[in-house]
This record gives sequence, structure tokens and C-alpha cells, in this order.
Amino acid sequence: MFRMKLHWQILIALALGVLAGGVTQALLGDEAGGSWWVALYRFLGSTVFIGLLKMIIVPLIFSSIVTGIAGLHNVEGFGRLGLKTLGYYVTSSALAILIGLAVVNVMKPGLVDGGPNPKVAEFIEENREKFEEEAEGRTAAGVAQESGGHPLGVVGDLVERMIPSNVFKAASDNGAMLSLIFVSLLTAFGLIAIDGYGKEALVSAIGGLNDLMIKVTGWIMKLAPLGVFGLMAYTIAQTGPSFLLSMLKYMVTVLVALGLHFFVALPLLLVLVGKVNPLRHYRAMRDALLTSFSTASSSATLPVTMRCLQDKAGVSKRTSSFVLPLGATVNMDGTALYECVAVLFVAQVMGAALGFGEQLSVVVLALLTSVGVAGVPSASLVAIVIIIQNVAEGQAWGGGAMAAVGAIYAVDRILDMCRTSVNIFSDSCGAVIIAKSEGEEVLSDQ
Ligand code: ASP
Repeated sequence: MFRMKLHWQILIALALGVLAGGVTQALLGDEAGGSWWVALYRFLGSTVFIGLLKMIIVPLIFSSIVTGIAGLHNVEGFGRLGLKTLGYYVTSSALAILIGLAVVNVMKPGLVDGGPNPKVAEFIEENREKFEEEAEGRTAAGVAQESGGHPLGVVGDLVERMIPSNVFKAASDNGAMLSLIFVSLLTAFGLIAIDGYGKEALVSAIGGLNDLMIKVTGWIMKLAPLGVFGLMAYTIAQTGPSFLLSMLKYMVTVLVALGLHFFVALPLLLVLVGKVNPLRHYRAMRDALLTSFSTASSSATLPVTMRCLQDKAGVSKRTSSFVLPLGATVNMDGTALYECVAVLFVAQVMGAALGFGEQLSVVVLALLTSVGVAGVPSASLVAIVIIIQNVAEGQAWGGGAMAAVGAIYAVDRILDMCRTSVNIFSDSCGAVIIAKSEGEEVLSDQ
């Protein structure tokens, strides 16, 4: 019987979702948010599809990392793998931020004739109260948590997030990805170090759990078209056209910068460093790209990214289970780029001309904060507020910036979908490049 390929099913669902959301928005306008239809879209997309993906993350990540590494019988080369992974994360994120910096300085979305863009300023003024409330409500808790900062800086903070005080509590907390990775690595290395029946029994039981999770991921992906339809319809039904029009130049700037990273910088890295055919790699990652685009969550997409990378790109379990979960949490090129563009846009709209030194601090802060951003929708807004607070400290423009962040939030979802795709694509490029450097043969070899 003819069966349409999954990515075609998802693409069609995406188009139908846009259509259904557009019709709902056109018919119901501002009322759409509280309607039965939007509740249905949300149910299909968030409750069922994202819910199922999140459900399998903990057992899938734990079992993939343990089977990927414990099956190897020795720990040789893991230090090297770790260093390469870190090197890739820093290089690709820095590249992304510099692209964002260049594009926002050339396109100047917040300025018209050297002054703040009146269209945007008017839009912010009209909605000031609502935006301020929304931005403060969304970010206050996160800012307190993140900028409280660790006395030992980023490293101290990372280590603190890595070591769980209670393994079971960490496993039940979806945000505790770093501790999950840490515990899985410890288990894997521990299993390599012990011998006997206990070792064999555990390795094969965890291997069985991994096979099971891979099977379940396959089942969940069968529901992807329905989930993607719901997610798209939900997003579009709630986004009024007036918001989009006022912020158009900003949105185009973000998209141009993300596009340059996605279509030029990352493929160049694939060709030059990995000697890998980028077209084949895009094709291998199709399902994951469509899922990240619809869910706007790197974490929820992780099971699909793993599946594509192992089954379609041909990367080994060892490399993919090391590079991907860590990447989904720590390596966010799209997010880092976005933070940089957003902060400079807010400064432009507020009439602040940031000098070289200030722009450099934005770059460094974007690199550091993108590490802490969780792989969930709109998570980077907290980081944007932190950067603005740091850079604008003691300056007048910082005061009004919250309303501008609210305006960014109003159009965030669509941009979030795009930057999340860049985030997971960069993780996958890193995994392929590192796999090649470890002597693996991947399917997208040139
Ligand atoms: N939604 C992004 C992700 O999951 C994070 C962000 O930039 O808000 O990768």
C-alpha cells in the first residue's frame, strides 16, 4: 500500500495547521485565545504530542548514554571527545553571534534615519502596560534564579546544576537535563569499571530499555502530523496580524541572520571541517527539523534528533549519545544569535547607541547565557533581560527596556520556531563532524 513519507505528512500537516489557525484568527480575532478550537489545537499539540515526547526523554537519554558508552568496554578517548565537543560548541555559537551582530548593525531594525523606529516605538507605547506586565511576569522568577549567579561564575553554576542532590528527583524534573547527563555518564563509566554478573545483567537490562524507548519514539512519531497540525494552528490562531506588521523589520533581521547561519555557516563547517555533504545531512535531519520548528523546544525534539542522527545520518550511538543531549542543553547557536540581535534591537529602539565595548559585552554575555537557557519555548527571553540589565546598568535606556522585551515576546513564537531549528541543526552538525574526526563513516560522506 502507498504510504506517504513521514516528512511529507508533517509538511502537509504544517500547512493545514497554518490554514486552520489563520481561519480561526480571521473569524474570532482576539476571542480566538479562549475558544474551543484553540483548546483543541493545544490539546493535540502540547498535551498529546509534546507531552509524549517529554515523557520518554528521561529513560531514553539515560539508556542511550549508558548503552552508547558502557558497550565499549573502555573509556579511552572520552577526554578527547569531550574537548572536541566543547570546541565545537564554542566555535559554532561564537560564529552565530558574530553573524547576528553583523546583520543587526547593517539592517538596524530599531532605527529609521538614525533615530528610533517610530512604528515600533508607537507599537510599544500603545501596549506599554500590557508588555511590561507580561515581560516582568515571565522573566522575574528566571532572572532572580539566573542572575543571582554563582560566586564562582559560570563554571560554578554549571557544576551546581550538574550534581543532583537526589537522583530520583532530578530524573523526575524535566529541566534537570544536565544532572541527568551527569548521572548517565557516571553510570556508564562505572559499568565499564566493574566486572561480573551484575555488570552484564545491568548492561543488558539498560540496553533493553533503550531498544524499548527507540520503539516508543517510533510510535510517537506516527502521531507527529497530528501534533504538528495542533501546534501550528494554536500558534497562528493566537497571533494577530497587527503585531506582526509593526515588528516586521525586526523579524526579517532575525530571520536573515538565522538563515545565514543555517544555510551558509553551518554547511560550510560541514564541508570544510567534516568533509560531509550538507544536502545529504539536511535530508537526514528532516524529521527533526520539522519537529523542532513546530515544537520550539530543543528538549522535546531530542528523541527525534537522536533517531535521525543514528538511523539516517549513520552516526554511532557512542558519539550521538554523548554530543546530542549535552548539545540540546548547552549548545544553542540560534538562541545565542537571537539574544544578540534582540538586545541590540532594544537598545536601538530605546535610542541608545552602543559602542564597541558594550557590543563586545553583549557578545560575551550572549555566549555565556545561551549555555544556561533551557530547551523550552521562549526560554531565551530571560537571558535577554539579564543581558540588558548588565549592559544598561546605570543608563537611562535600561528603564524602559522591559516594554520593548514585551514587544519582542509578542512576536516570539515564530522566531522561536526558527531559532530552535538552528539550535538542533547545529547540534547535529557537531555530532557528524566529531563522528568523522573519530574515524566513523557517516552516511552523508562526500
Ligand atoms: N526554544 C529554544 C530551544 O528550545 C530556546 C529559546 O531560544 O528560547 O532551543
